[in-house]
Amino acid sequence: MNNKAFYLETFGCQMNVVDSERIVDLLGGIGYRQVDKPDQAGLILLNTCAVRDKAVRKAYGHLGRFKPLKDRNPELILGMGGCIAQQEGKQLLEEFPYLDLVFGTHNVHRLPELVQKVADKHVRCEETDFLDRDTRLQLFPSRTGQDAYTRFVTVMQGCDNFCSYCVVPYVRGREISRPSEEILEEIRELALQGVREVTLIGQNVNSYGLKDEAELSFAGLLKQVNAINGIERIRFTTSHPKDLSDELIDCFGSLEKLCKHLHLPIQCGSDKILRAMNRGYTRERYLEIVDCLRRVCPDIRLTTDIIVGFPGEHDEDFTETMALLEEVRFAEIYSFIYSPRKGTTAADIEDETPAEVKQARFDRMLELQQMISRQTWEADVGTIQEVLVEGESRMGEGQIFGRSTWNRIVNFTGPAELAGHIVPVKIVKSYRNSLLGELPEKRGS
Ligand code: SAH
Ligand code: SF4
Repeated sequence: MNNKAFYLETFGCQMNVVDSERIVDLLGGIGYRQVDKPDQAGLILLNTCAVRDKAVRKAYGHLGRFKPLKDRNPELILGMGGCIAQQEGKQLLEEFPYLDLVFGTHNVHRLPELVQKVADKHVRCEETDFLDRDTRLQLFPSRTGQDAYTRFVTVMQGCDNFCSYCVVPYVRGREISRPSEEILEEIRELALQGVREVTLIGQNVNSYGLKDEAELSFAGLLKQVNAINGIERIRFTTSHPKDLSDELIDCFGSLEKLCKHLHLPIQCGSDKILRAMNRGYTRERYLEIVDCLRRVCPDIRLTTDIIVGFPGEHDEDFTETMALLEEVRFAEIYSFIYSPRKGTTAADIEDETPAEVKQARFDRMLELQQMISRQTWEADVGTIQEVLVEGESRMGEGQIFGRSTWNRIVNFTGPAELAGHIVPVKIVKSYRNSLLGELPEKRGS
């Protein structure tokens, strides 16, 4: 009999997290149950990311670690999905003779059949064809039926922006927006099941609906979500500065359920490099957006992504990025050293900057940002934050946890029944990755 236990590893972004949740559902449908140790599994899957070389090497490293398990147990099925699978396709089967199954980013729904085929017929197979728009629209992952207070809801997929460094448009395919009525129906259903916070996700959520005149704008969609009973908080990610409309900016002042946090990747502070990256906005426009956001919502917190060492980045370009970080004072940045990706246009640009110079810039930037982030987080101490409680904390000892509107984790002592409720919590200490809080004493007690 087959061993119907599976082990799944997920790399990369929220899109992959959602695809992995789907994989768990789909495999459950054919009698597989998830285990947390690979040596107990009859099926091992890696859901991979190709955005940077580091993520790619990590995935291959993990795949190699599973080879001895396969050597010991030839019945074990090893599969790879996600962006590396999409990019490399059949070649993976040639390169890794112990790999049985390769499935692309548009083929997750086919997993039950593919797994069964490999198990029953002892064949190796690959499916990485992109699907047409109509088929994809039928296949948006649906997020109902899970036991949680916060959920991701996919509103669009793919990307048409072709930033010159980025592999996403090639491995995720063309951009499509899911019909708003379907999204709203899903969120209403989630609200009935007890979900209190939804995060609308997509590679570029704020270009939602732009290519379909009959569809709502992204701001229009947010307004409708805001009106759904039971949903108390809304977040969204990721946004692109070039599509950030005034209507969307205004939502931060007018929609009471919208959290006061926006992740808005800038990538670089130099216009010359932004142009070479094909980002479609200038430094000035970005700063104007920040001003407008802070005007409608003075305590909004911003986070961003930065790429250091893009080909042609000189000291003066980097200095502009540093100055921008000081000016905007992001609560946090996610920074990366540029990683050439094959097939992208930037991969052909000559890159003269030595790796040590890039590393030194990266380190300086991190040092500056760490100081700014620490100051931001420390300002939370002594304040009262509204926290949506998600459940028991990993800290144990009767602690529960939730998130502030700024998306910071807050641990505090309190009854487990508070899960699913928004409660005021007094912040007493700030750590690198979380805050420690306490329930304020009730007046009169
Ligand atoms: N759709 C999102 C993010 C996509 S990938 C956006 O447009 O912002 C997440 C982040 O990875 C990017 O924001 C970028 O900072 C980083 N990234 C993408 N390609 C990269 C590359 N080739 N080298 C280094 N960082 C990269
Ligand atoms: Fe990549 Fe640019 Fe698309 Fe983001 S917007 S996924 S960085 S191509």
